[in-house]
Amino acid sequence: MRRCEFFRVLGGIVARFRPRRLIVVAIAVFALLPIEISYAGWLPDLFKTSSKQAKSPKRAKSARQATRPAKSARKSARHRAPAKPSATRLAALGPIALPPSAPKSATATCDPATFRIVLDVGHTAESEGAISARNVAEFTFNLRLARLVEERLKAEGFAETRLLLTEGKARPSLFRRVANANNLHADLLLSIHHDSVPNKMLEDWEFEGKKSHFSDRFSGYSVFVSRENPDFRTSLRFAELVAKELKSGGLRYAEQYSQPIMGSNQHPLLNKETGVYSYDELIVLRKTAMPAVLLEAGSIINRDEELAMDSPERRNIIAGGVASAVKEFCDPRWALVGPP
Ligand SMILES: [Zn+2]
Repeated sequence: MRRCEFFRVLGGIVARFRPRRLIVVAIAVFALLPIEISYAGWLPDLFKTSSKQAKSPKRAKSARQATRPAKSARKSARHRAPAKPSATRLAALGPIALPPSAPKSATATCDPATFRIVLDVGHTAESEGAISARNVAEFTFNLRLARLVEERLKAEGFAETRLLLTEGKARPSLFRRVANANNLHADLLLSIHHDSVPNKMLEDWEFEGKKSHFSDRFSGYSVFVSRENPDFRTSLRFAELVAKELKSGGLRYAEQYSQPIMGSNQHPLLNKETGVYSYDELIVLRKTAMPAVLLEAGSIINRDEELAMDSPERRNIIAGGVASAVKEFCDPRWALVGPP
């Protein structure tokens, strides 16, 4: 059923109810509404709350308010490394003031043996996310890369690293994912995804005799944070480290998210050098109790980049970059002396 038809039928049903019952009807309808999934199961469609909710005045915090960590986050900063001082320039929003840095101390670095990072495998076996140009599910790419990152981190001594696999359909799995992440009492969360494009950009081609879709228009990784995460400042710091490592690995970030052509999927570019964006509405970033970052490792709807993402060489660059970012996050001195 097309959406306009759906709402016309809905209007007829609602007209039969008295006003006091409308709230009940509205709640029931919201629960039954299909999540807005594009053909490609593109991540931003799957992971945001409704645009209405995102734009409501209640949620429209100022940038300054949004940068203040919540009390609970400040309390749970036991393993966090010292923050970098002062202001960050938002490419799209102008400068924002970050809270003052915590004083540096001997305990500011973390112990890899106890530091817990959760690697959230994007999507589920049931709702597999985007479909690549060669008809491979995004979930397959996400799981393979997340397992390699886990392996690298454990080899570096981060024994508490956890892979978070979620089951079920898209919408309920979102909330289960966040609840499971919060129950793990992690110090950091990295959600791992692979990118696609909005439906309108898809082109047709045939792969192995099957009608398929692709878009070679965009490529590259992107790193997202939410200014509504209870610890945005720490999230941003980790995001910057991940993006910096990927860039130094010779990769380029996806620039399209800062462009008007993306419509409602256009997002503020927080760092135009490395490719860190804010995406405030993403549930997995704003509802998690710990600092959280989402990585779109590369585009699998782009035919060349899909092949690259399928190669051990590219996966090693990304997994190695993430592991280096975690080490540097945990101990900024690592960046100065390099690996042992
Ligand atoms: Zn995804």
